[in-house]
Amino acid sequence: TKHFPVRRRLRDLFSNRHDAVHAVDDVHLTLRRGQVVALVGESGSGKSTVARLLAQLYPRTGGDIRLHGQSTKVKSGSAFRAYCARVQMIFQDPFASLNPVHTIRYHLTRALKIHGNAGKTDADLEKALHELLQRVSLTPPERYLDKFPHELSGGQRQRVAIARALGAEPEALLADEPVSMLDVSIRLGILNLLRDLKERFNLAILYITHDIASARYFADQTMVMYAGRMVEGGDSETVTQSPAHPYTRLLIDSAPDPDRLTGVSDVEDEDRGNGEPPSLIHPPAGCRFHPRCPMAMPRCSAETPVPLEIGDVPGHWAACWLYDSSEVAK
Ligand code: SF4
Ligand code: MG
Repeated sequence: TKHFPVRRRLRDLFSNRHDAVHAVDDVHLTLRRGQVVALVGESGSGKSTVARLLAQLYPRTGGDIRLHGQSTKVKSGSAFRAYCARVQMIFQDPFASLNPVHTIRYHLTRALKIHGNAGKTDADLEKALHELLQRVSLTPPERYLDKFPHELSGGQRQRVAIARALGAEPEALLADEPVSMLDVSIRLGILNLLRDLKERFNLAILYITHDIASARYFADQTMVMYAGRMVEGGDSETVTQSPAHPYTRLLIDSAPDPDRLTGVSDVEDEDRGNGEPPSLIHPPAGCRFHPRCPMAMPRCSAETPVPLEIGDVPGHWAACWLYDSSEVAK
């Protein structure tokens, strides 16, 4: 009986995972070096699933992920290994992603060695460790190297997790709600650190968040997900200032202060008006947002909307029948 709860939890985890993978559909995403793309949505929208698929942590049943045009369809071989080194993930909870029985030195050494970045001598390794901690502003490094995760604050732990990711010398970081578990007062510091690292190392960053105001602050491009599908995308300024999709408008209306540029919202993921997102296992037919949409038309529950260009801003699109020219003509 002692082991049962653990087994049960693992099984639940597996069945959730399986369902989620089946429910993420038609997601197209391009990350470019030196750019932040935000993926915004409520909990259960599939945004974390997208990050985990991109990190190759989940098996996928279809689709393809390419790095510099090279497919990673086959989960072995040099293209796949290169991909795993080049694309690093940062998780929401730095405490869960660091092993409590090991020091910071252990975590960072392991990352450097796995990716062949530890150098030849002990002095090389020590230098590389110091450099990693300096890059995330944990200085002087010797104050942190031999500490255990529980001896650091939440923000310091997230900095260690970022340093560990940098140990792989990545091209891309996938950051899944990297600040949502941290104190509001230190969130901006972590986002600014990520932005500095992006500039310095020409990184591509995928920023997963439920907070659309922080996407506007931090990301060049913003993509909005609803129930496993992408519903709107474009440059962050346009998507947050002139949202086209009724769901994006709902997200912005329910944010506490959508116009502020320097704060990072403390709004809870679940704290949304106007109903709940649907189950990803049996999503509604047609537009998945139609049961909640104030603008829904008869067609919306029958036909799945296709991405359509909006207005004059290049690259701004929404998957919504309101923007179909045949609807506009009616
Ligand atoms: Fe609303 Fe229809 Fe647009 Fe879906 S397609 S968001 S239901 S108007
Ligand atoms: Mg999530």
